[in-house]
Amino acid sequence: MPEIARSGSCLCGGVRFRVVGESIRVGLCHCKDCRKTSGSAFHAYAVWPLHAFETSGMTSTYGARSFCPTCGSRVPFVGEDEVEVTIGSLDVAPTEGLVPSYELWIGRRESWLQALPAARQFEHDRIAGDSTAGDETGREPRRRSAQDNSCRT
Ligand SMILES: [Zn+2]
Ligand SMILES: [Zn+2]
Repeated sequence: MPEIARSGSCLCGGVRFRVVGESIRVGLCHCKDCRKTSGSAFHAYAVWPLHAFETSGMTSTYGARSFCPTCGSRVPFVGEDEVEVTIGSLDVAPTEGLVPSYELWIGRRESWLQALPAARQFEHDRIAGDSTAGDETGREPRRRSAQDNSCRT
């Protein structure tokens, strides 16, 4: 069976990308940075290994978020060995097989949203080294200095 491939783009189409195979993890984040940069109440994203990703077009980056300089849409953020894809930038909706397994910064979740029933809940960031499984909520992987409302997805 061939591996699943997913395509995506920004709104204007200047940036296009493709991810192949299964994602490493899927999450929701309610942190300040994710809210501000998405302009939405939370950020839904999926992470793939870098080798599963290809893209074309010019992007701009601010912090750990990338966007299209023409239309402003969020586009995948390319990290050292992973790429974070905003679920809403994928072409096909609803997506298949991309179900968040955890939520971050739940203290900032809107009161009209419910915790996803099967998703692990974290007060802040994910516990270091934890992919999708792990133990209890609430412990932070490391001390953060100034950015107390932003995440490591
Ligand atoms: Zn664009
Ligand atoms: Zn966040």
